[in-house]
Amino acid sequence: MKACVLHGPKDLRLEDIPLPEPTAGHVRLRMGGVGICGSDLHYYHHGRVGNAVVCEPMILGHELSGVVDKVGPGVTGLDPGQKVIVNPTDECGTCAYCRAGRQNLCPSLRYFGSAARTPHVQGIMVEYPLVQARQIVPVSDDMPLDQAACVEPLAIALHAVSRAGNLLGKRVFISGAGPVGCLIAAVARLNGASEVVISDMESFPLGVAAKLGADRTVKADKPEDMADLENACQVSFEASGAIGGMQTCLRNVAPGGTVVHVGFLSSEEVAYPINTMVIRKEATVCGSLRAYQEFPLAARLVETGRLDLTPLITATYPLDKAEEAILVASDKTRSMKVVLTGK
Ligand SMILES: [Zn+2]
Ligand SMILES: [Zn+2]
Repeated sequence: MKACVLHGPKDLRLEDIPLPEPTAGHVRLRMGGVGICGSDLHYYHHGRVGNAVVCEPMILGHELSGVVDKVGPGVTGLDPGQKVIVNPTDECGTCAYCRAGRQNLCPSLRYFGSAARTPHVQGIMVEYPLVQARQIVPVSDDMPLDQAACVEPLAIALHAVSRAGNLLGKRVFISGAGPVGCLIAAVARLNGASEVVISDMESFPLGVAAKLGADRTVKADKPEDMADLENACQVSFEASGAIGGMQTCLRNVAPGGTVVHVGFLSSEEVAYPINTMVIRKEATVCGSLRAYQEFPLAARLVETGRLDLTPLITATYPLDKAEEAILVASDKTRSMKVVLTGK
């Protein structure tokens, strides 16, 4: 079968690898959709995401939907032909975090398409991904497989919003209108926020954010357009990964408000104005990492039409055009979520 293997920065090769045979507890899927994530772009362009450096060939991808192709011994409740999405998290299941329902913090966690460990955890940009049955969430037959591939970033957005607590009647600010920022806007609206404001450097992603539910969009390079937001947003989400975006989140959060960090910043060494922006405002600062329990809910929200992800997907490409798809996905002036599709 075909697989997209990264050998180093800008060295992505379409290779033939053996068709995997499902062992006990495993399921072979026919790939339906693979969303290209910011982390895939970082691996492709720079050969690394933060401290995770690609030092051996690695298949990219972790945002997966598909159809059950063959089930391994001991797998029940899944039949060939069934449409599914996959939670890319493979946790130990026994540590204190896993037992407390916080599997996203499991210290032994493995994530598809990640160079955080060596040997790397291979990704799922292949024709027939092999996954564990317990990572699978079945979805309805009429759910489009490209939208199903976007359930993973939606789960990330749901988790970020759950970290912020109740949004009912609150003004929400989001820095960064990438896929996760846009989906946070959609979820915040669904959660009864009184106003959802989102900022970005580019106009194109702000247009997508507006279609997904943002009430107001502001250009990040026009601070004068945001003057009224200063100290006036009960919740700020940092989803830009940019230091400027982080500073805007801190400036805009209202006294007693909450800042949720979702985007990984490009540097560990960041000046954080603790005195003025955290202590004086008595702000709550929290992080949000991946997702876990939100996967079934994310699937249901899309399946039932409560959230329409159509505006999120700006292009689809077949698997053998993965490199072209990655280059298009890298252009933030015209791309939001680019999805590779199966046959
Ligand atoms: Zn992702
Ligand atoms: Zn664990």
